[in-house]
Amino acid sequence: MDLLGPTTPTPLQELSGKFTEEAGIRLFIKRDDLIHPTVSGNKWRKLKYSLVKAKAENKSTLLTFGGAYSNHLYATAAAGNALGFRTIGIVRGEELAEKETPTLKFCREQHMQLHFVSRQEYRQKHSEEYLLQLSGQFDFPFIIPEGGTSGLALKGVAEMVTEVRSQLASAPDFFAVAAGTGGTAAGILYANANVLAFSALKGGGFLENEIQALLAGYENMGKLKLFTDYHFGGYAKWNPELLDFIESFKNNHGIQLEQVYTGKMFFGLFELIRSGYFAKGTVIVAVHTGGLQGLRIK
Ligand SMILES: *Cc1c(COP(=O)(O)O)cnc(C)c1O
Repeated sequence: MDLLGPTTPTPLQELSGKFTEEAGIRLFIKRDDLIHPTVSGNKWRKLKYSLVKAKAENKSTLLTFGGAYSNHLYATAAAGNALGFRTIGIVRGEELAEKETPTLKFCREQHMQLHFVSRQEYRQKHSEEYLLQLSGQFDFPFIIPEGGTSGLALKGVAEMVTEVRSQLASAPDFFAVAAGTGGTAAGILYANANVLAFSALKGGGFLENEIQALLAGYENMGKLKLFTDYHFGGYAKWNPELLDFIESFKNNHGIQLEQVYTGKMFFGLFELIRSGYFAKGTVIVAVHTGGLQGLRIK
């Protein structure tokens, strides 16, 4: 099902330079940022089968969760509007009801109904009791977890892996990806590929368990290596060094990254490449997971 007419397969481009030559490796970038103008990157991959299921169940409303800058809220608002669903966003932080962020403004323009809750209430986002309560309150919507991350997301992300294997005519040694909820990393592992996951959050060690939980019951998983030191102070935090890196990446390769996820992942990956972390001959595919709506620099 070609939901929303995505550009698939998304291009796979080689990134080369002195640093890849010196390390004796090959590095590719999977351009999932080009998949759709508003439902970008991994959010499209993760949403696809939730949207299919919601339609199949004749649900008229989608309900999901996110923060004031959430790429997932943005993507769900756009996809829901285009496909004729009503959408409801449960937004973390009551104080935001008074405040407009570019992401929330866009969500409103896409007719998403925003419902602001305290951080304490938001923490219940996985509690069955809380979900039942929301379900009753909002007319029995199709509920999509935070980040679009659920068992349904695995299958959509695995399709990206399949595209890469056929574009390369072989399997890469590693996929590199930024991690927020870990759903994208889990989907790649589910497709039996190895993952280097770079936490975009501080204290990202918990992602290991989250990812294992998403994969419970499946066999033939790839191997996960989680990096937790490239968070730049925490979720959505950055410093001039990261911004300089994003700018030089754009100058060298002609590709825009953003400061919340993909900038941090490439920064960490380049550091590993330069430090001789990879054996000669290693092939790496780094996934550009999109999220450029969240670009807040320059
Ligand atoms: C949401 C997002 C991620 C994180 O994906 P998870 O599946 O939640 O780990 C990475 N990159 C971008 C651009 C994102 O929008």
